[in-house]
Amino acid sequence: MYINHEEVYELLEEGKKATREEIINILEKARKKKGISHKDIAALLQLEDKELEKEMFKVAGEIKKSIYGKRVVLFAPLYISDYCVNNCVYCGYKKCNSFNRRKLTQDEIKEEVKILEKMGHKRLALELGEDPVNAPIDYVLESLDTIYKTQNENGNIRRVNVNIAATTVENYKKLKDANIGTYILFQETYHKPTYDVMHPNSLKSSYEYHLNAFDRAMEAGIEDVGGGVLFGLSDPKFEVLSLMMHNEHLEKQFGVGFHTISVPRLRQAEGVTLENFPNLLSDEMFKKVVAIIRIAVPFTGIIMSTREDEEMRRDALKIGVTQVSSGSSTGVGGYKQREEGKSIEQFKTSDERTPIEVLNWLLDEGYIPSYCTACYRKGRTGETFMGLAKTGEIQKMCEPNALMTLMEYALDYGDESTCKKAEKLVMEEAEKINNESIRKFINDGIIKLKEGQRDIYI
Ligand code: SF4
Ligand code: SF4
Repeated sequence: MYINHEEVYELLEEGKKATREEIINILEKARKKKGISHKDIAALLQLEDKELEKEMFKVAGEIKKSIYGKRVVLFAPLYISDYCVNNCVYCGYKKCNSFNRRKLTQDEIKEEVKILEKMGHKRLALELGEDPVNAPIDYVLESLDTIYKTQNENGNIRRVNVNIAATTVENYKKLKDANIGTYILFQETYHKPTYDVMHPNSLKSSYEYHLNAFDRAMEAGIEDVGGGVLFGLSDPKFEVLSLMMHNEHLEKQFGVGFHTISVPRLRQAEGVTLENFPNLLSDEMFKKVVAIIRIAVPFTGIIMSTREDEEMRRDALKIGVTQVSSGSSTGVGGYKQREEGKSIEQFKTSDERTPIEVLNWLLDEGYIPSYCTACYRKGRTGETFMGLAKTGEIQKMCEPNALMTLMEYALDYGDESTCKKAEKLVMEEAEKINNESIRKFINDGIIKLKEGQRDIYI
């Protein structure tokens, strides 16, 4: 197995011995943005020296800025079914929790999507529990079709990333044909003994079947896969090294590793007592995890959800996070219920601001909020995408696309002050771009958007 537990333990032991000079060398190497070795990652994970730690955050921030500039991609989750046959110890949807389970009808999905579109969202993460009878693959496919076909005046969902349980090559092929963006699946924990305890007697009990899901997805032709760990289940240092081993396995087998990595932290949920989890991460350790992932895989997006509060999201954006969700509801039918003043959630969220509040906050923090979904629609996925990312070519597309989507968002959903703020930023950023044809694309784009054209991208 490519997550060799003994090797991880040994690397972590070795890492404790790294000298100050060695750490400085590792950080120098990291600045070249070519990633670092497992041994180096282990040394950074074991770092205790506060001064060097500060330097590590600085390097992670520099890497992030040089690759992603000021852009932050926005998305929202859509929960469509809480039926689940599994009993994951850490989850509110587990089978042994008794509550009125439901799955959305296609009409209800339309209603949820229209609300999300009214909030300005263009990119969704589709979420549901595992239940082959109540929510089979055909239900997922039908729902995807409904989502892509549901439009409001100017609103449409342009990319749906899908987070469904590990499944067969045949089912992954169906997802691929349904035009999904990234296939997302969290290993939850790479530490097998912990995995076994957390997933008793259920479809999710096989560590290997879950671990090899991306191999099957890629075999089926899905090129963008997003990994992750539920931080708090096991030792975070073990998890980060294992994530990197998983990434390398995919690179070796399929030429491309994770498109994104998500960093959810365990939260309070129905029937989950946090005191029973001895590996919960402090904020400090969590930030270290984000920074080290950024250094280790510079070209992989890092996703942070509204599980984290404003302060953590601010810090994490500085050191590595590239995508955040906004205005999220984590309950089935939650967007409509929220409009009606009720709330149902799978787990507790911490950032409850609306998308427009998050967008204005990002603008005030100096970021360019982006609703861009261009790449997969242009066929820039998998190895092609990574090639463009690693040579820096992608930046020529990300920046103008981000500016176009920001302007579009401001015109459709912003008040006067947001519109002014956004347009000022778009003009200023366009001025800084050396390439004349890209500058022209942006300037012409602003005019076209004001004339009513939408969805302008390269
Ligand atoms: Fe079901 Fe997923 Fe929750 Fe496990 S984590 S109980 S599979 S919804
Ligand atoms: Fe993402 Fe591609 Fe858009 Fe850049 S151009 S923000 S990589 S979708």
